[in-house]
Amino acid sequence: MKLDILVIAAHPDDAELACSGTIAAQVAKGYKVGILDLTKGEMGTRGTPEIRMQESEEASKILGVSIRENLGFKDIFFRDDDSHRLEIVKIIRKYKPEIVLANAVTDRHPDHGKGGAVASNACFMSGLRKIETHFDGIDQAPWRPKYVYHYIQNNYIKPDFVVDITDFWGIKIESIKAFRSQFYDPNNKEPQSFISSAEFLDFVEARSREFGHSIMVKYGEGFTVERTLGITDLFDLK
Ligand SMILES: [Zn+2]
Repeated sequence: MKLDILVIAAHPDDAELACSGTIAAQVAKGYKVGILDLTKGEMGTRGTPEIRMQESEEASKILGVSIRENLGFKDIFFRDDDSHRLEIVKIIRKYKPEIVLANAVTDRHPDHGKGGAVASNACFMSGLRKIETHFDGIDQAPWRPKYVYHYIQNNYIKPDFVVDITDFWGIKIESIKAFRSQFYDPNNKEPQSFISSAEFLDFVEARSREFGHSIMVKYGEGFTVERTLGITDLFDLK
């Protein structure tokens, strides 16, 4: 299967928190979107890898993504090195996405900046003919996504562009709440974490409102670019 967009995320729930409105918006336009989680988030305060896998499956259904894979890298300990990049290259060559959405270039959680870097480096390597990879015993052809955009997650970064997700806000929140072990649930007796308070979901909404406000809509998601984007018509900019 060929994808239009591949979202690469350090942890299951990063995609939902930072760019699920954009995913839902693109799926609604008929594009094929997939998610590649790099780790199972096993170092998180709450939940287990098994629970988080079930939750990400549920979130994927809510978002309507075509595929979701998990590379099983070690949470916290994975590196932006050749062996990790090559594992991602195999997935990029398998699904041939035109656009890759990757973690923020820097964030509170160190895996996010690392995840953004390893994904971006893998996108470049994937286009190099002399880097040979095999998948299911078959030689893979080189493939470089045309664009890599980094989704802004926890720490504020001034976005290079904002996607209007107003019509998809409900789906975004529903997909986040699918991760019941992670976010606010008054019946959950596990220890509190940075993201498990009711206030954290208020923050997610506040950030989306802030980005939305910046482009004069209700809700938005912000991204940074790696290279300057070009247009031929000034009126394409909104
Ligand atoms: Zn994360």
